[in-house]
Amino acid sequence: MTKRLGILGGGQLARMLVQAAIPLGIETVVLANRNDEPAALVSKAVVGEWNDRALLDQFAQAVDVVVLENEFIGSEKLAYLASKGVQLVPDQATLGLIEDKAQQKLTLAAAGLPVPALALIESLDDVAAFGAEHGFPLMLKTRRNGYDGRGTAKIRSAEEIGSACSSLGFPENPVFVEAWVPFEAELATLIIRSVSGEQCVYPVIETYQPSGVCRVVRAPAPFSTAIQQQASEVAQATAAALGGLGILAVEMFLNSKGQILVNELAPRPHNTGHYSIEGCYCSQFENTIRAALGWPLGDPQLRHQSAVMVNVLAPTTRPLESSLIQTALKPQVHVHWYDKRSAKPGRKIGHITAVGAESSEVEARAQAAVDQLERVLA
Ligand code: ATP
Ligand code: MG
Ligand code: MG
Repeated sequence: MTKRLGILGGGQLARMLVQAAIPLGIETVVLANRNDEPAALVSKAVVGEWNDRALLDQFAQAVDVVVLENEFIGSEKLAYLASKGVQLVPDQATLGLIEDKAQQKLTLAAAGLPVPALALIESLDDVAAFGAEHGFPLMLKTRRNGYDGRGTAKIRSAEEIGSACSSLGFPENPVFVEAWVPFEAELATLIIRSVSGEQCVYPVIETYQPSGVCRVVRAPAPFSTAIQQQASEVAQATAAALGGLGILAVEMFLNSKGQILVNELAPRPHNTGHYSIEGCYCSQFENTIRAALGWPLGDPQLRHQSAVMVNVLAPTTRPLESSLIQTALKPQVHVHWYDKRSAKPGRKIGHITAVGAESSEVEARAQAAVDQLERVLA
């Protein structure tokens, strides 16, 4: 019997996992908060409040193996599902190392991996002391629940420490501080480790993230083979140091000295891997599923010289009208509309990928379609 795939989450990552499960003939059940979430609209779903043990029991009975779409669900929920006989990929131990970003980076630093200097914060004086040692600017971050740059605050000088800390909800909300990295570029890759022992590594890509939100992904990263190789090796060493199975996304900085530093990890399909749907022989979503089932992995390599993905961000709070996407349906772009029924401005509501031979032409094609779509949505 083919195992039933559970997905913890009902957003766009879960929806694209469901889309990848269909051609493999795999049944999916998503755990969602609402019936109208992107993945609950296209899959069997168990819907409700996740702290409700009866709901988790119902989900556990409906699935055999579970993958994640979010690293902030609480590893104790994974432990509970495991106690009900569900197989978790990744398991609660791996999630436990990742869900607290400060712990995640301290684990990597202890393993000798390159990360920015960081410190846990108990008081405003701790931030001042870190600033005195490392200089300003600094980056303050929440330890949990950050995404799209929400949960980060740049501190330009000692005067800004108090306002930055309160903007992130400190001291109720635990934070840590790290040295500012004047990076040349942000890079990322994906490592997939199957329960069978097989592993594959995706190309290194460049991600452009103005204001902390991923806007554009360029595959392959437009840097030398040596830099791509170095980033790939750091990411693989990171995965090895962490242990665990399933997909691991590794976000990195390339600094002006040509060094690679690890920024953060995610044990789930990643926005910087969406290009792989059309860009690679086997997408991050399909390989995440194959890895969880122990099925043979697909080829992660690019099947075009260039693939560029551009995110579509909600321009307004107005309800989203799906038929408007027709304006982006140019002959040579791939449109992914997440069917979010409502979204705050700046939230990701879709993405568009273009593939081809010449990277600047490919990027212009994807960007033009996104610009046009965001104009009609505004
Ligand atoms: P994601 O949406 O990828 O989960 P996040 O909200 O968890 O992001 P980070 O990845 O930690 O937050 O930071 C968001 C962005 O802020 C980074 O992509 C980068 O552009 C910038 N940034 C983070 N840390 C630093 C740093 N130490 N120095 C300079 N810029 C940084
Ligand atoms: Mg993050
Ligand atoms: Mg990030």
